[in-house]
Amino acid sequence: MPEKELLKDSESVVTQTQGFRTTEPISFLAVLRARCPRCRIGKVTDGIFSIYPRCAHCDYDFNPESGFYLGAMMLGFLVTSILTIPPVIYLKVSGADDAWVLGYPFVQYLILGPLLTYYAKILWLHLSYRSGAKMDSR
Ligand SMILES: [Zn+2]
Repeated sequence: MPEKELLKDSESVVTQTQGFRTTEPISFLAVLRARCPRCRIGKVTDGIFSIYPRCAHCDYDFNPESGFYLGAMMLGFLVTSILTIPPVIYLKVSGADDAWVLGYPFVQYLILGPLLTYYAKILWLHLSYRSGAKMDSR
């Protein structure tokens, strides 16, 4: 393919990408509904554990590089720590029964663990899109 045509293709991709790009803040409704950060229409996830490779509506790449979602793990770990450590310290300091001090993190993780894991990935994708990370649609 001649270089001019490559440049043309590249420009049309950039134009198409900028047409979708928004300066609006993250839509928490889009995060809650697990929608694409660019068009907010296409679904990001296929079930609880798998993520579609691309948006079915705008072709946005949900897996721009290998290991992309490692940051989501750290985000989930941070939120889990914030929701676990202070209440456990409070329970211990207030003299609660040891069963509560030990049981709280397990019960909390059973309830919130899957939700935090699921939404951390989607929030990470939205944060990356808003931060302007280079994720071309092709
Ligand atoms: Zn999309």
